[in-house]
Amino acid sequence: MLTHRNTCILFAVLIAALVVLNINYKIHWLWFVPVIVLFLSIEFYGAYFVHSGFHIKTICKADTTDKLVALTFDDGPMPERTNSILNLLSKFNVKATFFCIGSRIKGNESILKQIHEQGHLIGNHSYSHSNLFDLKNTSHMLSDLQEGSKEIKRVIGKEPLFFRPPYGVTTPGLARAVKKLGFHTIGWNVRSLDTSIKDKQQLVERVTKRIQPGSVLLFHDTVDNLEFALEEILNYLNKNGYRVIELNKLIQKEAYA
Ligand SMILES: [Zn+2]
Repeated sequence: MLTHRNTCILFAVLIAALVVLNINYKIHWLWFVPVIVLFLSIEFYGAYFVHSGFHIKTICKADTTDKLVALTFDDGPMPERTNSILNLLSKFNVKATFFCIGSRIKGNESILKQIHEQGHLIGNHSYSHSNLFDLKNTSHMLSDLQEGSKEIKRVIGKEPLFFRPPYGVTTPGLARAVKKLGFHTIGWNVRSLDTSIKDKQQLVERVTKRIQPGSVLLFHDTVDNLEFALEEILNYLNKNGYRVIELNKLIQKEAYA
């Protein structure tokens, strides 16, 4: 499997070989360019495609043929939006996982408690969810993630083990922080694109045609009127014999320390 480590080893060998060829046979220095471009392209792919598992071993779906799926919601808690999603989930009697942003918890403790008390799971989605998060060093990321977990524990009394990288971007620094904290990194295999698709019917079609046994679905409990599309998706799952179960049961990992 292509990982950051074996890519670095492979390209170090290639560069060393080119240096030897350059010294002994005077090959043109331009030979280095495609090798470096290829290296950077692979690194970029690994950082931006969470399912690649390039930097961090990431769980994006369960390996099952049973019609079981899990729902996940990122970026809350958000007043009204999260509550509205919770009401819909309760109407369908299904449980989901909420990857919360630590800095949004202060002042919204009652929402977090409600999520927990209704039997949903809460995961860490960093404290800051900063645009610059991926440019920070390991110790900065580590303290940001610890701060996020601290906020969740302050309210529900449990320390999360499920972690979803902000923007789904992974880096070597984040890999070190995640390893130290013992997190299970959670991706998705059905991305709803609910933050950009405005047409709810299009959103429903996009999601339902990608659902398969073991799917992990990604939504955001910050999107206006998401419940209209979500209701149709939940109806589709019911009609097609799918069952929504808790993420910890789907992937068979502990959600809390
Ligand atoms: Zn996010």
